[in-house]
Amino acid sequence: MHAPADDPAGAEAARKSIDKARGLLLDWDGCAATGNRPHEQAVTFIAKHRPRLAIVSNNSTQTPEDISGLLADAGVDFPSARIFLAGMEALTYAAGIPGVRSLVLANGRMKALGRAAGLQLVRGDADAVVLLRDTKFTYSKLERAVHSLARGARLIVANPDTTHPGQGGALVPETGALLAAITSCIDLQPENVQIIGKPSSFLFERACAALKVTPESALMIGDNPDTDIKGAHRLGMPSLLMAPGSRLTFSELLGEHAPAMRFARPRAARRVAF
Ligand SMILES: [Mg+2]
Repeated sequence: MHAPADDPAGAEAARKSIDKARGLLLDWDGCAATGNRPHEQAVTFIAKHRPRLAIVSNNSTQTPEDISGLLADAGVDFPSARIFLAGMEALTYAAGIPGVRSLVLANGRMKALGRAAGLQLVRGDADAVVLLRDTKFTYSKLERAVHSLARGARLIVANPDTTHPGQGGALVPETGALLAAITSCIDLQPENVQIIGKPSSFLFERACAALKVTPESALMIGDNPDTDIKGAHRLGMPSLLMAPGSRLTFSELLGEHAPAMRFARPRAARRVAF
């Protein structure tokens, strides 16, 4: 459902679909927040629907606790257990495969979190290559990843996005750009590649399980037709395309007379790598 801002009937239909949904899956980057700054009306929306809402994001440099902290700074307590981020999910997915030695291409902090989650980290000759948005990606890392994959290692990818929107509309290179470097070197069999982020079903299913709802009874709210909307559609989940993907805004979802939220603390941006 793509309701434009100047279409009151469309906005009304969007609000009805929210009322009807048993669970709400909300995208983060570009939709509820830009960079580390949550949008005010999105925060009000999260607070209003908190008991039946989960956040699903292709982010691969932050933790659920980071996002929960940003929301706490904005005045909303939101449980990290209902925040599903592609990077952390990729690490915990790989850690759940017994006996696998993993070459993790990620920031140092995410690598350390992977180790803490039980990953056996190696620098080469890996059984699995786990790819996140590694801002220190190098020729050597590319070489080691390709060598392991050529020997039959599986590839676990946080997300296929080539960019995401940053502050001031800047293009931020994403995990998919690094994936393109790898796949320009080697043809991979689809059965050897696991994509964790949207539009893959992985995050949608994790969120639905946490909310105890079926995909058909939930509603995906996001700004990206290629990830949020396409992924939801594949699972039979209704969806709302938000600005900037459409002209539909959180103000409209809240209704014309929604009270502005009072923030207990200033919404200062946290110093978290993004
Ligand atoms: Mg988005």
